Amino acid sequence: MTVLFDKANAPASGMQKPRHPEKQNRPDNAILRKPSWIRVKAPTSSAFSATRDIVKKKGLVTVCEEAACPNIGECWEKSHATFMILGDTCTRACAFCNVKTGMPGAVDLGEPAKIAEAVIEMGLQHVVITSVDRDDLSDGGANHFVNVINAIRETSPKTTIEILTPDFLRKDGAVEAVIDAKPDVFNHNLETVPRLYLKIRPGARYFHSLRLLERVKDRDPQQFTKSGLMVGLGETKEEVMQVMDDMRSAGIDFLTIGQYLQPTRKHAAIDRFVTPDEFKAYETIARAKGFLMVSATPLTRSSYHADSDFAQLRAARAAL
Ligand code: SF4
Repeated sequence: MTVLFDKANAPASGMQKPRHPEKQNRPDNAILRKPSWIRVKAPTSSAFSATRDIVKKKGLVTVCEEAACPNIGECWEKSHATFMILGDTCTRACAFCNVKTGMPGAVDLGEPAKIAEAVIEMGLQHVVITSVDRDDLSDGGANHFVNVINAIRETSPKTTIEILTPDFLRKDGAVEAVIDAKPDVFNHNLETVPRLYLKIRPGARYFHSLRLLERVKDRDPQQFTKSGLMVGLGETKEEVMQVMDDMRSAGIDFLTIGQYLQPTRKHAAIDRFVTPDEFKAYETIARAKGFLMVSATPLTRSSYHADSDFAQLRAARAAL
């Protein structure tokens, strides 16, 4: 699914508003044909429709749709949707991301309750919550994360909660507030190797992101920490291995690695498709470096198989 224009929010004049206005004057990057190991089936099942109906009825936003995730058919068929809180518009403009960019609207104060209800309706044992970047808010949206975690805990105390947060850059006290809400898994993606930050993640800082995850472990060592990388953006194997070492130094428990897929012609170009064998090799190396859990496949995404992976993560810690 590639979305260049946002028809839902098109002005009455009929002019379509681009999803990524800041990218419109960039040169086009050709979209490479996907190799056989990337192909996924179009979603058709009634279970998929049931998940879609709950999301629509509650007026919730999912990263599955906004990021045009290739796994949506498989995940939604199993009721695994990843909720994206704090709106559908991001204040950053990363070169890899399909989420709409611009100035977001007001925070929906009813969202924590709606998400808690959706968790019950979908019967989720494990839920993943992410958000857009909200550089416009004084706390970066941290208190909204806390409210969502608390609302789920109150109504579904047995459901485990995984959060995938922005970097809360220049938001003093924000990360601490979220850590203290005690999610079961605190995920923040490094996304790529430091050399490519300026090109791929220009609004972020590699060492700030790394330190954020280290701070989670320092403040609450029981919380699992997780981080992810996209590959196929031009990084070298040595650079990926260096990031793995950095992550282990920060105490990160769980590493995800997946293939970068280019959402539109205006996004960063794919350098190459990393083969399934290379992913296997990354997994072997990462396990040898001491991660408790590793998921490295072309279609791995932060929240892909998050529920069963969380069970394995817990089992791996218990076996230490
Ligand atoms: S991998 Fe994550 S973002 Fe993609 S469809 Fe599954 S739950 Fe949604």
